[in-house]
Amino acid sequence: MSIIKVENLVKQYGTFTAVKGISFEVQQGTIFGLLGPNGAGKTTTLEIIETLRPKTSGKVWVDGMDLDTHPQQIKQIIGVQLQASGFYPNLNLKELIELFAGLYNETVDPMELLRSVNLEDKARSKFKQLSGGQKQRFSIATTLINKPKVIFLDEPTTGLDPQARRNLWDLIRQLKQNGTTIVITTHYMDEAEELCDRVAIVDSGTIIREDTPDHLIDQLLDSGFQRTKKTKEANLEDVFLNLTGKELREG
Ligand code: ATP
Repeated sequence: MSIIKVENLVKQYGTFTAVKGISFEVQQGTIFGLLGPNGAGKTTTLEIIETLRPKTSGKVWVDGMDLDTHPQQIKQIIGVQLQASGFYPNLNLKELIELFAGLYNETVDPMELLRSVNLEDKARSKFKQLSGGQKQRFSIATTLINKPKVIFLDEPTTGLDPQARRNLWDLIRQLKQNGTTIVITTHYMDEAEELCDRVAIVDSGTIIREDTPDHLIDQLLDSGFQRTKKTKEANLEDVFLNLTGKELREG
């Protein structure tokens, strides 16, 4: 069953058309990746589905609800990463979760939520005291407060070290295992290959290809593609992880 359906979505900023009539569907319980160069229209598309940005034309349904007529109901079943600016500097992580839960009118156990993203021991810390990876995990925790059916992650691992990136992959896979649908943008193709059931490749506001990572790679190989440089059986990231260990280093 598709939980997100986007049909002929268009977004114009003045005379510039950032999204040029894209269509795609996301199946419930899967991880769907939006990939594409800077400025392709990924964030614009996500923010329209998240009800945060008005569209110019086209149709969007989330869990069968029409974005035009049911934006409030859609908001209730989706999880959106909040901007760091919303994390009041004087509150600690536990207090921030309590505050957001109050805003959502939800009862949550803040410690249990923090445990689920491996931040239990940081409950009394302020957001600004966290490492990059911890900040991302906290930001993901805030998307889970309203127990959403779908969560949207916009470049969640940008700027993280290899260990923290893998730790976040585990967390994202865990969310999928619990039945949550995840829509993610990333510039890391290894990450998309690792996590995504399907990806859409967006370029200049158009989806130029949409398929499973495996099919996309096979299609490229079938067309006769060969890597110019023969790759070794390991890469520099393997060296890095081997030398520094797989454990998180953020203390
Ligand atoms: P990135 O990978 O860099 O995050 P993206 O694929 O998420 O890029 P968008 O942020 O959706 O791209 O931007 C798509 C295009 O729309 C860009 O050319 C951008 O400059 C333009 N754009 C985005 N927001 C606005 C806005 N508020 N007003 C005018 N143009 C905008």
